[in-house]
Amino acid sequence: MKCANCKEEILQKDPQKCPYCGSTNLISKEEEFPGILAEIEGLKMAGKYEEAALKYEELEMWDEAKEIRELNMGKISTITMECPHCGASQPLASKSNEVTCKLCGKNYIIPKNVLELF
Ligand SMILES: [Zn+2]
Ligand SMILES: [Zn+2]
Repeated sequence: MKCANCKEEILQKDPQKCPYCGSTNLISKEEEFPGILAEIEGLKMAGKYEEAALKYEELEMWDEAKEIRELNMGKISTITMECPHCGASQPLASKSNEVTCKLCGKNYIIPKNVLELF
């Protein structure tokens, strides 16, 4: 968000007016960069998270870039395992061969072939 009057960058999320000069004439990123955000949405849909993150960085939208990178990481590294006792699936957080089910509290062994995915 930017102030059209004093050209200052406003860091608040949804400012009603410019904190510097009080002007209500604000320019949102959407207005400032028409089309680019739509393009980023398209990249996200296509699963091209890294490209989308780079575009966000071009717009200096750091939070969004970070968020999408985390999303991307999660997609690659999350391996879920189903509990043999109760069937609840949970993501495996570490490369240990034994985990405790969050739902039923029982321990179970992670098969070698699953561990190799890490
Ligand atoms: Zn201003
Ligand atoms: Zn369980």
